[in-house]
Amino acid sequence: MTDPDLPERAIATALIHHPYQPPAGFAAPQPGIFKASTVIFASTAAMRARNWKEKVGYTYGLHGTPTTFTLEERIATLEGGLHTVLVPSGLAAIALTDMALLRSGDELLIPDNAYNPNKELARHELAGWGITHRFYDPMDVDALAAMLTPATRLVWIEPPGSVTMEFPDLTRLVRVARSQGALVALDNTWGAGLAFNPFRLEGAGVDTLGADISVHALTKYPSGGGDVLMGAVTTRDPALHLKLNAAHMRMGWGVAANDVETVLRALPSLALRYAAADDAGRALARWWSTRPEVAQVLHPALEGSPGHAHWQRLCSRSAGLFSIVFDERYTARQVDAFVDALKLFRIGFSWAGPVSLVVPYDLTAMRERPRWRGTLVRFSLGLEAVDDLIADSAQALAALNA
Ligand SMILES: *Cc1c(COP(=O)(O)O)cnc(C)c1O
Repeated sequence: MTDPDLPERAIATALIHHPYQPPAGFAAPQPGIFKASTVIFASTAAMRARNWKEKVGYTYGLHGTPTTFTLEERIATLEGGLHTVLVPSGLAAIALTDMALLRSGDELLIPDNAYNPNKELARHELAGWGITHRFYDPMDVDALAAMLTPATRLVWIEPPGSVTMEFPDLTRLVRVARSQGALVALDNTWGAGLAFNPFRLEGAGVDTLGADISVHALTKYPSGGGDVLMGAVTTRDPALHLKLNAAHMRMGWGVAANDVETVLRALPSLALRYAAADDAGRALARWWSTRPEVAQVLHPALEGSPGHAHWQRLCSRSAGLFSIVFDERYTARQVDAFVDALKLFRIGFSWAGPVSLVVPYDLTAMRERPRWRGTLVRFSLGLEAVDDLIADSAQALAALNA
């Protein structure tokens, strides 16, 4: 009990150093949420003995709280890894990987069809620090082999390619990159930890072949709400993790507890949402493949899509994401009119939230060597009824032909 007649200044102190503690042993299905910049030490000895390297205690909000440690452990499990670091966005996860592992004089190889901000980071920031880069064709493993030099420190891989959806031969890409001593970072946002295990593409035990690092934009399926930005960097190697964790700490890229809470709440339904988006995406992609307006449907689970055989060997599931290339007879203006006529599909970047999204892309501006001509439209399936999404696509075609 505190004194009910405390003077004003004493109240300020009493409110801060209040003796009440809630009873221990509260249990609920979801974990409690802890927010902290400061972490209080029991003594100067405890403060001096602090350890930020392992999850044995707490040192500062930026280095981890029970809330961030909980999500890190769950993402590590989801990805088939052992250690995870959380950062404020998927792009920050790419940046952390590059900045922790690359130094002036190193070379970085990025697939030509990678998530474009990954390429822009190399072009505009890394280049200024003396880190060089080249873009490779992920569907030509021999070409990658020919590009590797002793300076190649890191190779990014991204299955499937962003927007154009080519599914590469991951096993061969990893084996080739490794043969020259390069580290392999895999952008696993599409696979979400569910389509395949980035750390075990082939083999088992000491013969396991996989990526060194898996990067995941938790913004997408793990959040599932279209309302959180967060990224994760996961590895199996403790030394590599320590390097990433130290860089993370020095650069100060912490995440907010409320955002972590949102992702923790969404994780239990992750596999259900992924499967639903996959089923809906394949149904709509199959519908598009019957349409005469379309030259090509790009969906790794569909026969005839680039790299389908590689997808089939590794995966059973796909994200609810695909693109179509309209026949060359349609102008970019006509395709824009089609996109504008969609009612349920909304125009917007990102994906994996409840609302279905659509974006038109000009391929010639995006790729060094575009594989297709014509305007491309990418669809991201939300959680609406798929029959309604097919009907929406059908009605909007009137605008294409207008
Ligand atoms: C969205 C995305 C990212 C970046 O995630 P943000 O949280 O939006 O920064 C990275 N890689 C891929 C493949 C993505 O789709």
